[in-house]
Amino acid sequence: MRNELNFSGGPGALPESVLRHAQQAVVALPETGLSVLGMSHRSSWFREVLDETERNLRALLGIPDGYHVLFTQGGSSLQFSALPMSFLRGCGRTAEYIVSGYWSAKAPQEARLEGDTRIVWDGAPQQYRRLPDAGELHLSPDAAYLHYVSNETVEGVEFSETPGLPDVPLVCDMSSNIASAPLDVSRYHLIYAHAQKNLGPAGVTLVILRDDFLQRAASPLPAMLDYRTHVQARSVYNTPPVFAIYVLMLVTRWLRDEIGGLAAMAALNRAKAQLIYGALDAHPDFFRVHALRPYRSAMNVAFQLPDAATEAQFLHTAAEAGFAGLEGHRSIGGLRISLYNAVTLQAAATLAAWLTEFQRRHG
Ligand SMILES: *Cc1c(COP(=O)(O)O)cnc(C)c1O
Repeated sequence: MRNELNFSGGPGALPESVLRHAQQAVVALPETGLSVLGMSHRSSWFREVLDETERNLRALLGIPDGYHVLFTQGGSSLQFSALPMSFLRGCGRTAEYIVSGYWSAKAPQEARLEGDTRIVWDGAPQQYRRLPDAGELHLSPDAAYLHYVSNETVEGVEFSETPGLPDVPLVCDMSSNIASAPLDVSRYHLIYAHAQKNLGPAGVTLVILRDDFLQRAASPLPAMLDYRTHVQARSVYNTPPVFAIYVLMLVTRWLRDEIGGLAAMAALNRAKAQLIYGALDAHPDFFRVHALRPYRSAMNVAFQLPDAATEAQFLHTAAEAGFAGLEGHRSIGGLRISLYNAVTLQAAATLAAWLTEFQRRHG
């Protein structure tokens, strides 16, 4: 298998230039002569890494003033808890959740421990093949917040419109499509995304949080689960994952300098998705895409073949051809192609051609 043909659902592919840079940094950073793995999180070198990463993210994502940028641990799963602890506990309101797939179904389970929740839409009866259309959501204007997942990594459905009401705080788990396209951060009160799908290695989770929302947070809370702790300590309350944040910084430089920003990234991602869906759609009886057409994700393509034996054959011959990470998520089985930012257009074209060839032999 080869790095450039890694279509894993997560941790996902990273850009070749970032891997090379990181490799060198593991042995010795050019700036300090020390391995990045032995650098103090209290060093001025690391403070500058944090500051540059934040600056780059602010520029790339267009994060306005009045928003905090935090680097936290515990993955996106801990955000499922941190969010309702701060913004549902004791507030006397109901938190609303859109359940559109495996990940967004997990989030309200944690919120129920903290207060009242309401599922405003549930895609489970339709196997999470589609997303709510605007008229289908009956939202309450006095909800504590509305939570949704912008891209369902497992089922491969992605929102193209932002849901929500103007006066209700909007919270989004963007773990699997952050930085895949330009974003209007001002629509949101809180955004979170772990790094390991589109931004870097596992270990760090990005939180973008509006300051006036933070003022409403419940207290007291356990320090590590209290966003105020991380704001006050500027993301170094305890030992952060120095290496993961360093690689995240390299990825932000790559997005800026090699890709040319998120509009260029989005164009590339669209082209990659077109190649893959094009190959699959040419033989819809053989390649059965899970998502209904208008809701298809540009990041994750979940599909099935006519039977389990053909799927096993697919994975076996794909590995022999150098492709990695094509198994579907254990919750739904089948196959999945993840087209995160670091997957190149060339890699997508190589896979699309191989899909066509596989169908010709086994269809
Ligand atoms: C992978 C994934 C998660 C789980 O993230 P962890 O960092 O492993 O806790 C949560 N939400 C979404 C949308 C995901 O794709």
